[in-house]
Amino acid sequence: MIRISNIEKFATHDGPGIRTTVFLKGCFLHCPWCANPETWKSEPVLMHDAKKCVECKTCMHVCEHGAISFPFQWDMDKCIYCKKCENYCLQDAISFAGKDMEINEVIKEVLKDKDYFDQSNGGITISGGEPFMQLDAFLELIKQCKNNGLHVAVETTGNYCLDTLKEALPYIDLFLMDLKHLDAQKLKDITGGNLNLILNNFKYLAQHCPNKVIVRMPVIPRFNDDICEDVIRFCANLKLSEVNLLPFHTMGKSKWNQLNKEFMYDKDKMMDRNDLTPYIDVGKQLGVYVKIGG
Ligand code: SF4
Ligand code: SF4
Repeated sequence: MIRISNIEKFATHDGPGIRTTVFLKGCFLHCPWCANPETWKSEPVLMHDAKKCVECKTCMHVCEHGAISFPFQWDMDKCIYCKKCENYCLQDAISFAGKDMEINEVIKEVLKDKDYFDQSNGGITISGGEPFMQLDAFLELIKQCKNNGLHVAVETTGNYCLDTLKEALPYIDLFLMDLKHLDAQKLKDITGGNLNLILNNFKYLAQHCPNKVIVRMPVIPRFNDDICEDVIRFCANLKLSEVNLLPFHTMGKSKWNQLNKEFMYDKDKMMDRNDLTPYIDVGKQLGVYVKIGG
């Protein structure tokens, strides 16, 4: 059994070709710009869409566990996930992110598009959250993917020990691995990440299978927008050949609202990708292919 938040078909930005992206629940980090904050907790989470809600309070009345109160608040500790609130809401204002699936069910779903993968050199991308968080289920999933001839890409934070990485390595064709900062304290303070673990994993991959790695850097205002060149240089030193600079966007904002969480970048505009194009030349000088976007 594996806990997923979503399966997205015909994805074209999560690795080569046409892909099906499977988003897993659970993450070690908590980046304040995250586009998928509903994946952070391993448990299912209630999402409440205030734009659809007419405040009839039916959800509160049908909940036998006092988990919903108004102004709308959901108490995760009281919730038993009976989903009565979701079923009784006539406005479709309530949904739960997170459901358990058998691994062969996931594989069956993904294989429906195998013809498209084969024609486009695509495959499955496993994302999250952090796929390595559900380690045993994740390992089983990638093994079954390889048994079924799928190209496997993983979107990952790299925030786990090297032994864990080594266990998964034979079943992964491509790591889309984040490098969000090179300052350990800043990374820890803002995201909860451990730079030592991440750099260890980058170094190992660079030594043993550099072609399996694309470095991804979400470029975030006031956090790391002044260190793009340093990250490209870091990759050049490790002889990693591709860096994707991902311009800051606010597309996850409505999810933050639906989770009743404050979105720290409410007043920030989406970053213009042209602001990052000068780094393409920086990359050329250093022998690194720099792509703007995923
Ligand atoms: S049942 Fe739906 S529409 Fe009514 S208050 Fe609850 S969330 Fe809002
Ligand atoms: S899932 Fe059930 S227990 Fe949880 S808030 Fe909804 S009605 Fe209440």
